Amino acid sequence: MSRYQTKHLFAEETEEPPCRHIIRVAFESAADSEFDYQVPDEIWPIQLGQRVEAPFGRKDKLEKGFCVEADIPFEQSFAAHDKGRKLKTVKSVIDKEPLLNAELMDLARWISGYYVCPLGQVLAAMVPAAVKKGAGVKTQQYIYLTITAAEAEKKIDELRGKKQKHIVTCLYERKAFDSDSAMELNGLMAAVGCGREPLKRLAEKQLLKIAHKTILKSLPAIPKGISIKPEGHFLLNEDQQKALASIKAQINSDKFGVTLLHGVTDSGKTELYIRAIQKILQKGKTAIVLLPEIALTAQTVQRFNERFEKIAVMHSGLTAAQRNVQWQKIKSGQADVVIGARSAVFAPLSKLGLIVVDEEHEPSYKQDTAPRYNGRDVAIKRAQLANAHCILGSATPSLEMLSNCQSKKHFNLLSLPKRVMDLPMPQMKLIDLRQGEITQKGINLVSEPLARHLKEILAKKEQAILLLNRRGYSNFVFCPSCKHTLHCRNCDVTLTFHKSKAPRYKRMRTVTGEHMNYGYAICHYCLAQTLVPEKCPLCGKGFAMIGLGSQRLEEELARKFPNARTSRIDSDSMASKDYYQLLQDFGEGRIDVLAGTQMIAKGLHFPNVTLVGIISADTSLYLPDFRANERTFQLISQVAGRAGRSTKKGIVLVQTFLANQPAIRFAVAGDFDGFVREELKHRRACNLPPFWRLAVVGLRDMKFDKLDAACKQMRQRIDRIIEREALKATVRGPMPAVISRIQRFHRMQIIIQAPEATTIQGLFSRLRAEPPIRPAVKVAIDIDPINLL
Ligand code: ADP
Ligand code: ZN
Repeated sequence: MSRYQTKHLFAEETEEPPCRHIIRVAFESAADSEFDYQVPDEIWPIQLGQRVEAPFGRKDKLEKGFCVEADIPFEQSFAAHDKGRKLKTVKSVIDKEPLLNAELMDLARWISGYYVCPLGQVLAAMVPAAVKKGAGVKTQQYIYLTITAAEAEKKIDELRGKKQKHIVTCLYERKAFDSDSAMELNGLMAAVGCGREPLKRLAEKQLLKIAHKTILKSLPAIPKGISIKPEGHFLLNEDQQKALASIKAQINSDKFGVTLLHGVTDSGKTELYIRAIQKILQKGKTAIVLLPEIALTAQTVQRFNERFEKIAVMHSGLTAAQRNVQWQKIKSGQADVVIGARSAVFAPLSKLGLIVVDEEHEPSYKQDTAPRYNGRDVAIKRAQLANAHCILGSATPSLEMLSNCQSKKHFNLLSLPKRVMDLPMPQMKLIDLRQGEITQKGINLVSEPLARHLKEILAKKEQAILLLNRRGYSNFVFCPSCKHTLHCRNCDVTLTFHKSKAPRYKRMRTVTGEHMNYGYAICHYCLAQTLVPEKCPLCGKGFAMIGLGSQRLEEELARKFPNARTSRIDSDSMASKDYYQLLQDFGEGRIDVLAGTQMIAKGLHFPNVTLVGIISADTSLYLPDFRANERTFQLISQVAGRAGRSTKKGIVLVQTFLANQPAIRFAVAGDFDGFVREELKHRRACNLPPFWRLAVVGLRDMKFDKLDAACKQMRQRIDRIIEREALKATVRGPMPAVISRIQRFHRMQIIIQAPEATTIQGLFSRLRAEPPIRPAVKVAIDIDPINLL
């Protein structure tokens, strides 16, 4: 934090005695600096982690900020460096108790440093908005007597008003002599049968007082009424026992450590998490379980809920009030197991003993807005700060964590190579789509072999999951004769065609009087919509819808299997509450075929699913990103795990145009080690993670010239620091991002590669101390980016 940034906050006054209480505050809205304030005696003490309201900026606007250092001696405050200037004064304290404890404060500092994000922004992200707003909090009024029992007895005789007499008697009998024993207002009025008037009288006579208490509405967040068979009485198999013994030994050491649990789907990982948590609770400690948001279905939550009594949940399906209730439950020690999505890593538990991160490799653990943290990596750091253990589970561990197991002594690799009860892995079959027939609309999404299998399992009343990683109807609208494609006017991407049932699209005509197709083209980045002309505006010939979309799949299914009950699930439907309902319907057999994007590949457990079809294994391979192979491998393996999760035999059909692609071949063969070996060769050759570390400086602006100038300046600064500090790093760019324009913003990137994380840290800690770049453009720093799109 530079001094010149703090300077203007000191009012121009002199000769005041040094202030008695000084705190340091981080504001959410402020840039990368913290500010010192004096605190008047009336509101002292203020503790670390409490929020205050204080005048900020030239205009002294009241802003909310976190106290990040309490009780700073004057000599160490910013005021001491700036003789003759006076500190501003905190206006009020917002929270009765600190929202974050010292351990979470340390974690916040680490995140702020590592992910190059202002501390105030990190702190703001650590506490749910619902908590800060006090969602679902009601204020209730309570009444108590301010006189002694003897005085009350006297008053009961003396008072002339019948109602007043009655009220004092009532409070006297209940011994309501202080705010703790006070009687709730409505209850009192009902007991006495009076209104507010006699109470007011008594208050005027100073016989009683009104206290305000805030209470939280009681709102259960754990879904009820889903039947799950009781479990947990079985014996662990040999692999599980070995793994658990190792984890328990780690837990007993009371030292920080990480276990990477590599186990195929259904190998009993979750069961191990549960037993490890039981062990932690026995030791009087607490645990956090992180799951990817979409795996936080009623199914999983229920499973934990059945095994633990004091559990709290945090996921996006909760209302604000429910979220606040859950958080307060954790804060007040009423929960010792927290299960939630990414941000649950900040759950305010004390005595943390274990953090479990399931599906550790999931990209959704990375937050894509500032602070751009990875929930898994923060979990590891938090475990370290708390001397706790961390279990990372996955069927397809990330290359980063695998290599940690080789190079870092705190990491330990355990594996569960078999499915529990020795259920066979599903049979995997590759279907080469190049052999299939191509119709006027493009290819058939359901190939002949897939259709055959689907028919078979439907006849047996079994269920199927079909996966297609594309929303909409087709992924581009294309003229076969002149090669014109429809592009978004704001973004550098092709538009996706969505069919619409909405009548307003039916009778539309273009300016030239042609009929429109029944539907519209939409940009999945900026959500701009356009109508689609029936004919190509350039050559007048007909448009074709190329590519694959989940809507088209749904249509083809309806045509080929008119009697099957099919449903589609994708991020469009995810936004709605129906999502959880749909999964439940599928689980309870009211849907035969579930089609959707990759979110259905995650963590679900449906024993009656015996067929999984991957409509196109290639979609993620086409992404120009260095993790494309890894993602493709993970996706196929994950989806495969959905099939045959019971004694019924499962089959997985993988359709592809790229049958020779290694990621696909290894995935179909179930050869994780083979894939890792192949992929590591490539990563090493290109200095990519897990060998080197990456950071991306993304710059964007609507005006390209301005952006260009800013990019050049950024590059110069980076080069200067690297040269001055003699850092070992490679810098690429500025270059256009893969999607070079989104929502009219041109996007450029500078990519930094370095063999050590500390090099990247060193570079950015110097970069952030420099004044903002000119011309001013939007800058986003992404450390350990999850993709380069
Ligand atoms: P994963 O998390 O690796 O997919 P789970 O822990 O969910 O695996 O286990 C899959 C299923 O097998 C669950 O229904 C679980 O209750 C059951 N299970 C786990 N371990 C055993 C065991 N040792 N014996 C019998 N059933 C088990
Ligand atoms: Zn767009």
